[in-house]
Amino acid sequence: MRLILLGPPGAGKGTQALRLVAKYGIVQLSTGEMLRAAVKAGTPVGRQVQEIMASGGLCPDDVVVGIIGQRIDEPDARKGFILDGFPRTVPQAEALDRILASRGLKLDAVIELRVDEDALIRRIENRIGEMKARGEKLRDDDNPDVLHKRLIAYREMTAPLIAYYRQRGSLRSVNGMAPIAEVTAAIDQALAATPSAGRAQDVEGKKKSKELSS
Ligand code: ADP
Repeated sequence: MRLILLGPPGAGKGTQALRLVAKYGIVQLSTGEMLRAAVKAGTPVGRQVQEIMASGGLCPDDVVVGIIGQRIDEPDARKGFILDGFPRTVPQAEALDRILASRGLKLDAVIELRVDEDALIRRIENRIGEMKARGEKLRDDDNPDVLHKRLIAYREMTAPLIAYYRQRGSLRSVNGMAPIAEVTAAIDQALAATPSAGRAQDVEGKKKSKELSS
């Protein structure tokens, strides 16, 4: 099973990803988490993206594409994966198409979590409030100004992916404003409607990549 979770910051991608991981035995690949780890470790990539992330902007496509390309090749991703926070731009989606095609792999579905922006802002402000109350350390980009910038980045750079994947027939939209368990159920239903699509497509993908390499 290979999935993409698409939706603005705070839409609940992380929460649903965890449930899908448990259900399908696949791994969650979150570029946001990988980039935060790079920042924390002070790697060259981390130093390059630290300020961009703190301000709510998007990191360069080549950086995130490079990270994902490597991560997909690791053994634990062989059974499948959920991409959370990637792709975030059309060039990233095109790069992902190339990465998958060159490995004879296909996506099973792109799940869009549809949410209302005002409710989203309230949801994130609540999350920030709760974390503060528990004395937890906030992320550098967890504040209302930066959130606003992240929403603009989503609208301008990421929302066009909805049309991109709809045209390819892989888009499944669910209502992200419903209670968590209902969102999970809607995702399950959407995935059940594409039975073994992944396996059938995999065979085709492999054939194609063989043809290309011969
Ligand atoms: P959230 O899920 O809260 O929207 P993420 O953890 O996915 O946030 O991402 C945090 C930040 O990491 C983004 O605001 C952006 O700066 C950077 N980032 C993560 N993924 C990508 C990506 N695919 N392309 C560009 N920047 C990214």
